[in-house]
Amino acid sequence: MKEFKVIDRFFVNCGQPRRDVELSIGDDCALVNPAAHKSIAISCDTLVENIHFFPDMPARALGYKSLAVNLSDLASMGAEPAWMTLAITLPDIDEDWLSEFSSGLHQVAEYYGVALVGGDTTRGPKSITITINGQVPEGKALTRSGAKNGDWIYVTGHLGDSALGLDILRGTQHFEPALNEYFIERHYHPTPRVLAGQALRELASSAIDISDGLVGDIGHVLKRSKVGAVIEVDTIPLSTQMREAVPIEQALGYALTGGEDYELLFTVPEFQRGALEVALSHAGVSFAKIGQISTGDKLRLIKDGEPYTPMNFGFEHFKS
Ligand code: ADP
Ligand code: MG
Repeated sequence: MKEFKVIDRFFVNCGQPRRDVELSIGDDCALVNPAAHKSIAISCDTLVENIHFFPDMPARALGYKSLAVNLSDLASMGAEPAWMTLAITLPDIDEDWLSEFSSGLHQVAEYYGVALVGGDTTRGPKSITITINGQVPEGKALTRSGAKNGDWIYVTGHLGDSALGLDILRGTQHFEPALNEYFIERHYHPTPRVLAGQALRELASSAIDISDGLVGDIGHVLKRSKVGAVIEVDTIPLSTQMREAVPIEQALGYALTGGEDYELLFTVPEFQRGALEVALSHAGVSFAKIGQISTGDKLRLIKDGEPYTPMNFGFEHFKS
């Protein structure tokens, strides 16, 4: 099968058709017509075999996750997903694999209203790069730089499950089948918090998505916002499965220093707390208040009133 046949068969008509796409796959460029008074939010993520995923990762899950991690970046800025391009490098053309991959990609693209408008197909070690484009009302994007002393710190969902899932895949953790499956599922199918991100636009002072672990990612907010923070580690949301599977010190280690949660971490000024409860309950996502922004530039972790040092599951993909 030739490259253009692969594109025709697996990538033309992938995702959600959109009226604002003037010209899609087939020409040298795609043409899209952005809405008036919107900024275009652009982000790109690459997943490389043996670095970001194991060779036996199901193709459908890889299709799903390649887009989900990009959508998570849009979510953290409060942007609405619109268009994407896909650069895919494959060692050979395996039609069954491509069919599964493209249906995983299609599933999440359709759900979030994203059209696949172009890309590149090459031969080489397996890797997937998606560039996502979203739209956000001018001046309304959430950034890492707006956190102020006294703002409350929140996270969506539960933390740590994905990193524990990765350890199961690596063979360093093992539980009963139902638990194994739950954690691996959270690792393969993170939920990008797209609606929550948009709901936070008028409320949050800063936001970031947690891809490299809570401690590392909040560090980016503190640096960009020139503030410090205190986190009460007992208030970090853990799934019931996490609490059941490992001792609390390990659970907190995964939650604080594991990676690939793709939950949102955001800060909210005191006067917006009421509005936040309403907005996020409409977005249908759980969230928890885990600390407060302070002066200075340090992150302090507190447990039972004492400084806390987490077990380090320092997230470095598979490295090397
Ligand atoms: P060019 O040589 O001009 O870069 P290509 O022959 O690589 O064009 O691609 C032909 C068309 O197919 C272009 O519109 C390109 O955007 C699209 N395309 C190529 N690979 C992919 C892919 N993996 N997914 C989606 N569209 C693709
Ligand atoms: Mg060309």
